[in-house]
Amino acid sequence: MTELLFLLLPLAFYSGWQAARKRYKAKNKNKVGKSETHFVKGINYLLNEQPDKALEFFLNHSAIDEYTAETFLLLGNSFRNRGEVDRALKVHQNLIARPKLSKHQKEAAMMALGKDFFAAGLLDKAESVFKELLDNNPKNGTEACQTLREIYEQLKDWHKAIDVTKCVSSENMNQTRITAHYYCELASQELENGNLYLVDDHLKQAKKSHKDSPRIEIILGDIATHEEKYSKAIKHYEAAIKADSRLLGMVFDKLINVSEKSSGIEQVYNFLIHYFKKSKDIDVLEYLLDLVHSHNPKQDTELHKIIEAELQTNKLSLQSILKSIKLLLKLAPKSEQNKELILLEKALENHIAGQLDFQCQHCGYKMNEYLWRCPVCHYWDTIAKI
Ligand SMILES: [Zn+2]
Repeated sequence: MTELLFLLLPLAFYSGWQAARKRYKAKNKNKVGKSETHFVKGINYLLNEQPDKALEFFLNHSAIDEYTAETFLLLGNSFRNRGEVDRALKVHQNLIARPKLSKHQKEAAMMALGKDFFAAGLLDKAESVFKELLDNNPKNGTEACQTLREIYEQLKDWHKAIDVTKCVSSENMNQTRITAHYYCELASQELENGNLYLVDDHLKQAKKSHKDSPRIEIILGDIATHEEKYSKAIKHYEAAIKADSRLLGMVFDKLINVSEKSSGIEQVYNFLIHYFKKSKDIDVLEYLLDLVHSHNPKQDTELHKIIEAELQTNKLSLQSILKSIKLLLKLAPKSEQNKELILLEKALENHIAGQLDFQCQHCGYKMNEYLWRCPVCHYWDTIAKI
């Protein structure tokens, strides 16, 4: 695999270099010969798996024109894309230090350098590069704003993230949804600190950004729980689940907690069974089975019928199949429990043991709890139960 990745560097670089070469040739018919011959030597080092020699060769190349500047950018980006951030930094820092760069070349080099710092986890340095880019050219700052936003997300500096989001393109429909998340992060922090008046302010702003955000319902449920208004909390949690059933991963325990303190666990059972019949959402069925196993609410025969029908007609997850078998075994009289079903239960338990419950639908990363934002690809609202 490492060897394969290594091959990708010269290939990716070479195709980008060819494109730059064609563009430059079209503009400067008589000038490219010497420069091109020189650069082919550097590319040969890359193809011969000698990146340090290639790097030394390019960095010692004295003249910089439009063609070579673009080549430097490509080379550094290729290093960064395969995780060699130190080499990428060397290339881009070398380019920026050149005295005769045009304004456009300098901005492109700064952008690349900022991305190198970001990839290296040097967030304060990346922040200052992107802020400088933005100060120098606020009109074309969308890309700089986008990366600054990601930096502030990593730093959990939600106020700065909100500020910088204002300069990200308004054409991006996700932006309002993400801004609502930032306000919800602030609201949750203030709820933990007991500053309810500030929670209210942040939730109002979140609603302004994305009025249908189910996360707002969850925080309203948390506030009601904090105030011991359990029936109200249940309504908010149920509203969040109806808006997005994946949120059961976040709300299930909260809903059980408040129901136990008020109307009883049967309310959760009734809500889930009615909602499943209406939505036919397999995630809901899985939590319903969880509830039956963990809290044993009073049941009618309806769930039994649903399980039999779903096992025959639907593509259930292994977790759901295992929980269904457990329930069927529990409901069957001892004399009718057959050995084969118990064996299948054991086999599924062995198969599932140690598996994580949640997965990012964007990058595939698996985790053991529901999160609003994937810790790997950093996308929001992409986590679901496996
Ligand atoms: Zn992800």
